[in-house]
Amino acid sequence: MKALCWYGRHDVRVEKVPDPSILNPRDAIVRVTSTAICGSDLHLYGGFQPGMAPGDILGHEFMGEVVETGPAVRNLRRGDRVVVPFTISCGACHPCSKGEFSLCDNSNPNADAVEKLFGYGGAGLFGYSHLYGGYAGGQAEYVRVPFADVGPFKVPGHLSDEQVLFLTDILPTGYMAAENCGIKPGEVVAVWGCGPVGLLAVKCAYLLGAGRVIAIDRVEERLRLAREECNAETINFLESDVYDTLREMTGGRGPSACIDAVGLEAHGTGSVGAVYDKAKGMMMLATDRLTALRQALVSCGKGGTVSIPGVYGGLLDKVPLGAAFAKGLTLRMGQTHVHRYLPLLLEHIDQGRIDPTFVISHRLPLDDAPRGYATFLEKAEGCTKIVMNPTVH
Ligand code: NAD
Ligand code: ZN
Repeated sequence: MKALCWYGRHDVRVEKVPDPSILNPRDAIVRVTSTAICGSDLHLYGGFQPGMAPGDILGHEFMGEVVETGPAVRNLRRGDRVVVPFTISCGACHPCSKGEFSLCDNSNPNADAVEKLFGYGGAGLFGYSHLYGGYAGGQAEYVRVPFADVGPFKVPGHLSDEQVLFLTDILPTGYMAAENCGIKPGEVVAVWGCGPVGLLAVKCAYLLGAGRVIAIDRVEERLRLAREECNAETINFLESDVYDTLREMTGGRGPSACIDAVGLEAHGTGSVGAVYDKAKGMMMLATDRLTALRQALVSCGKGGTVSIPGVYGGLLDKVPLGAAFAKGLTLRMGQTHVHRYLPLLLEHIDQGRIDPTFVISHRLPLDDAPRGYATFLEKAEGCTKIVMNPTVH
C-alpha cells in the first residue's frame, strides 16, 4: 500500500510499504477514505517529538471502511463505515473504566520509556512515535486498528466523511478544552491559537454557555474564521498587547477561562520569555516555547481556569506558576479522551448543532501529502486544515 512516511525534520515521503495485517484477535483493518493533517503532526514534522524512527507512518486523524476483523471483534463487520479515535484504548483498565481513555494502561507497549520521563505513561497513539507505542498511522491506504472492539465508531451513511472526520481528534479536543473550563452561563473565555483546535474550542465554548469568546492569533485568515464562522471577537497579538487588551475588554477583570490551543511551538512576541525560549532551544537546552501559556496564566482572571489542549512535551522553563497560585487558578490539560466525547458530538453533528467542516481549506490526494505538510507548516495559501483521500490517485 501507499503511506506517508517520516524520515526526519521537514522530510516526509509517500512510499510503498507492506499492507498491515491482523496481529491480535481484537484488531481490525480499515481502508482509509479520509485522513487529515493535524497541528500535532507538525510537532513530528518539525522534529520536536522524540522516539521517531525513519520510515514511521504518520497520521492519527482518519476514517474509512472495515475490510477485515480479528476473531474477538464482534461489534464490527466488513463494510462498516467508521471513525477511529486517535487514542488507542483497551476499554477495560482502571483509567478506561473511569472514562479517561487517553490514559489507557494497556495500549502503549513502550509505556516504560514514558514512565522514566513522566512517572506514568498514557495510551498508545496512532502515528505518534515509539514513545506512544510505535503504531503505524492513518495517512495511508490501510491501517491496523488495535482494540477494534472499543475504538472505531460506526457513522451513519447520510453524513459525509468531511462532516464526521474531525470526531477522530480535533472536535473532541476543542470540546474537552471548553468543558475543562467549567464555563458558567455568560462567562468570557479567551482562546490562544485559531488553528483548527482553537477554532473548534471557540465553537464548543459557546455550545457550553460562554457569553463571549475572544480568540488570539497573528494569522489574519484564521482570525477571520474565528470572527465570521465562530462569532468570536479577536486580537492579533502582533498588533496589540494581549494582556492589556483582554483586561480592557473584560472591564478590568480578565477572562474567566483561558484556553491554550497553541502548544509548544508558540510564536514569540519579542518578550523576554520568548527570547529566552528561542536561545535555549537553539542550544538544545529546551524543547518547548511557552509564549501562549505564559500569557494565558498571566491574563486569566482571579479564580479562573486555564485549560491546555495544546501539546507540551518537556520540562517547561519560566512558567509563571506564582501567577496561577496568587490568583487561585485551576489548571486542566491532557490528551483528549476521544471515546468519551465521540457519541455526544456525533449526535450534535447529526442534529446540525455543530458543523466542523468550515476549518477545511485544502483537499489533496495522499500523493501530495509532502506538499501539504509544507503548506500547513507555513500557513501558506490560507491553509487551516488539509484533508486527504487515499482512494483517489
Ligand atoms: P495549528 O498549528 O494549526 O494552530 C496553532 C495556532 O496557534 C496557529 O494559528 C498559530 O498562528 C497560533 N499561534 C502561534 N503562536 C501563538 C501565540 N503566541 N499566541 C496565539 N496564537 C499563536 O495547530 P492545531 O491543529 O490547531 O493544534 C493546536 C495545538 O493542539 C497543537 O499543539 C496540537 O498538538 C494540539 N492538539 C492537542 C490534542 C490533545 O489531545 N490535547 C489534540 C489535537 C491537537
Ligand atoms: Zn491531531
